[in-house]
Amino acid sequence: MTGSTQSSCCTEDEGPVPRMWTVGEHLADVLAAVAPLPAIELQLLDAQGCRLDEDVVATGDLPPFDNSSMDGYALRTADTTGADERYPSVLTVVGDIAAGAGELPKVGPGQAARIMTGAPMPPGAEAVAPVEWTDGGTGSGKAADSMGAPVEGEEVRVLRPVAQGAHIRRRGSDITAGAEVLGAGTVLGPAQLGLLAAIGRGTVRVRPRPRVVVLSTGSELVQPGDPIGPGQISDSNSFTLTAAARDAGAIAYRVGGVPDDAAVLRAVLEDQLGRADLIVTSGGVSVGAYDVVKEVFDSYGNVDFRRLRMQPGKPQGFGRIGGVPLLALPGNPVSSYISFELFVRPVIRTMLGAPDIHRPVVRAVCRAALRSPAGRRQFLRGWYSSSDGEVTPIGGEGSHLVGALAKANCLIVVPEDETDVAADSTVDVVLLTA
Ligand code: AMP
Ligand code: MG
Repeated sequence: MTGSTQSSCCTEDEGPVPRMWTVGEHLADVLAAVAPLPAIELQLLDAQGCRLDEDVVATGDLPPFDNSSMDGYALRTADTTGADERYPSVLTVVGDIAAGAGELPKVGPGQAARIMTGAPMPPGAEAVAPVEWTDGGTGSGKAADSMGAPVEGEEVRVLRPVAQGAHIRRRGSDITAGAEVLGAGTVLGPAQLGLLAAIGRGTVRVRPRPRVVVLSTGSELVQPGDPIGPGQISDSNSFTLTAAARDAGAIAYRVGGVPDDAAVLRAVLEDQLGRADLIVTSGGVSVGAYDVVKEVFDSYGNVDFRRLRMQPGKPQGFGRIGGVPLLALPGNPVSSYISFELFVRPVIRTMLGAPDIHRPVVRAVCRAALRSPAGRRQFLRGWYSSSDGEVTPIGGEGSHLVGALAKANCLIVVPEDETDVAADSTVDVVLLTA
């Protein structure tokens, strides 16, 4: 990636002090190492949620032919002039046109063709009388709500005049051939995929979703639902991070609970490299952590471990293994989630080619006083209310507090140079649910 390793600076009295990076510096380095994934041609449903990489032009008209918008009778309007319930127009039924019909009867004066919704208009017909405006071909002279079975030489009574073009969906009235229907950059949701199908596109060129492998490390981890022994805990990070990666637009693969064993971790990594555009790990990067994760990543020769001026989330690793970008997040659940939001989400959004790679940040009034360590940018969990523009901290600073995290909808940011924030101050708030 940047190739910068842990450098040092010195103070006169204390000797070498390991360098610390700001959140902004780390984010810039991480983002500099990734780019939008190359566009590919995908089947329509595989392209859901992806961004178009082409301007899509319709090759034909939509609808492709004039067709009826009602079940009824296709007829010539002059035949219905002055028709009413007492003196209906009596027309001879010359055919029956279902949706998808290829051969069409010709409708001449005094004639009508029974027609279904979506069926092509027959030659000679100028309008459609909905079945409710007729006796349904029953000969009863009463308005019908359905059509009788087709009978050769049958008559239909039309009970009111029908205007030119009534109940016809004209060819090209939705989309005309040659028109651009969707521009490059459009995110493909249900309606856009339907439109592509409607104009006959089977595949489409898009920026694909990045495939993100999420791997949690720690010999203490047990998969949720399995029996828990002494000193063990459920692996929650791999679920949080996999869900967060999906939420950011990725295809995420959860590889839960890899033990702190160099051979096992190496084998799992090698196994996963083939299907990953990005690898995200949790655990094993803090000072004093069991060194297996660092040892394994170091052996690939291209992963930096850093200490950031932030809380929580001080220890971070990033680099590339086997050509695949890797972000190694700290193991504490709140730290790993906040690290994901700050660094991994923008990476995924960049790979997607999204214009909005960051969460929105708003200003809000915090009624509570806040404390924050000097020299660190602090991210506290909070609840932001857009109706009154206020934010309330939830839970304490502890980076193990998953209960409080699950109740939060935002992060309250206290800048590096502030240690005490007075009650009723205005603070920056990162919205997590927008
Ligand atoms: P580490 O960064 O590996 O030293 O882990 C720091 C703390 O986070 C320890 O208390 C770990 O037990 C905890 N932890 C690490 N990984 C996970 C995980 N996947 N799910 C929940 N807690 C974890
Ligand atoms: Mg660990």
